[in-house]
Amino acid sequence: MLKDCRTVWANCLRVIKANIGEQSFKTWFQPIVPVQLHNNVLIIQVPSQFFYEWLEEHYVNELKKAIYQELGPDGRLEYSIVVDQGNAQTKPRTLNLPTSRKATGPAPVATPAAALADGPMSSSARNVAAAAAAPAPQATLRNPFEASKGIDRNYLHSQLNHSYTFENYIEGDCNRLSRSAGLAVANKPGTTSFNPLMIYGGVGLGKTHLVQAIGNHIKATNADKFVLYVSAEKFTNQFIESLRSNAVQDFANFYLLVDILILDDVQFLSGKDKTQEMFFHIFNHLHQAGKQIVMTSDRPPRDLIGLEDRLLSRFKWGLTADLQSPDFETRMAIIQNKMQQDGIDIPPQVVEYLAHSVNTNVRELEGVLISLVAQSSLNRREIDLEMAKQALRHIIEEVEAEVNIDYIQKTCAEYFGVPLDLLKAKTRKKEVVTARQVAMYFVKEHTTHSLKSIGHHFGGRDHTTVIHSVQTVSDLIDSDKSFRSTIQELRKKFAGK
Ligand code: ADP
Ligand code: MG
Repeated sequence: MLKDCRTVWANCLRVIKANIGEQSFKTWFQPIVPVQLHNNVLIIQVPSQFFYEWLEEHYVNELKKAIYQELGPDGRLEYSIVVDQGNAQTKPRTLNLPTSRKATGPAPVATPAAALADGPMSSSARNVAAAAAAPAPQATLRNPFEASKGIDRNYLHSQLNHSYTFENYIEGDCNRLSRSAGLAVANKPGTTSFNPLMIYGGVGLGKTHLVQAIGNHIKATNADKFVLYVSAEKFTNQFIESLRSNAVQDFANFYLLVDILILDDVQFLSGKDKTQEMFFHIFNHLHQAGKQIVMTSDRPPRDLIGLEDRLLSRFKWGLTADLQSPDFETRMAIIQNKMQQDGIDIPPQVVEYLAHSVNTNVRELEGVLISLVAQSSLNRREIDLEMAKQALRHIIEEVEAEVNIDYIQKTCAEYFGVPLDLLKAKTRKKEVVTARQVAMYFVKEHTTHSLKSIGHHFGGRDHTTVIHSVQTVSDLIDSDKSFRSTIQELRKKFAGK
């Protein structure tokens, strides 16, 4: 009888559900979509690399058991990981990885993800080191951005967005140093002392815009230079893919060709040792060859927990500059510039109202503008103060929701798969305790609640319990890699809103 993947997966879920808690099941198994069953290999799609690692780390035995029951001793499981959600123009991209164990296999087999997580330098990483030391080869390179292109540098695509320029990057006190350092680098890549240039600042403050502007400026003035913009996330995914397809050497060689490397959101490399190792070698090679490196991070380098010291100390070779939230005048100028760029007309008092009210970040400000324009054209109504107030009510509520204690508790409870009320109860069950400690840690980090008040919100606990929890979490972040990545993943939920 021919089985289809949905039926097989539904049966697997029944087996798994019987073996794990309801919340965990909801969190980790409901989002999975079965995509294919072929030759006894079941492929399931998971939303992210992190999700995959989590399943492999925590539920591999349950999965193994279910696959065995459904597909027998030859059954195998593979993951299809969504690595890029895509957009209207491009389809989502996925990456396939095997499970770390066969359904019946006695010994675990290392996967690319496992190789990445820890342990001694893998042979592929050694290849990278060798590649970094050798001069860039002249043939058979694979561009990780466009599968198997030849080596002609003219074809190498920069991955830049042309709409991010210095001209439309409004200067203010909040960004003066970063902007002028960026301009200096853009005018003389690789020859200023700003190498590497590291720009850091909170979400939506213009990091990506600024570093893309550097790239676009260099491309416009130095046609022969190979500028490459890549997010640290994409870099990581490409690296994993190259491990999977035995093309690590190609991956390294491709990056060694770059003249100006722009790596966005370098905090994403935290806790990813093998990827960091690869970046370290690329960094050294490019830097020695006088190539320019530009990076961004959402926090100052000293707070990049999970980044190796030797990499961090490299960042100090150049200049580190920050971006602050724009002041009122800069916000006004940004709105006016945006209106002009998009041909939007908004009455001056509305512009002023927006600049006064939205002081979190520039992305938020742009979001409000877009929603106002959309409402105005949908309702065939001119944008006025009333409409702006309506639009802002929604945004302001969201901003408040982001920092409050309820949101953090709810998010942590969901994430660890424990019921919210247990988080605030007396239970000392290990999984509840961990979730509770992590939630306390984030409340301390993201809100202004006193220790006493935090204790009060977690079932009337003493402030010393809160101190102990925060300390335990901090210690675990330092000592336990997988815990550290858990925290990083959660931190994104709070910082990325
Ligand atoms: P980040 O990378 O720091 O999260 P982005 O670079 O994506 O932030 O910026 C968010 C939005 O705000 C972008 O659309 C960007 O063009 C705009 N923006 C940020 N700073 C400025 C500025 N100084 N002038 C004009 N637009 C800005
Ligand atoms: Mg960005």
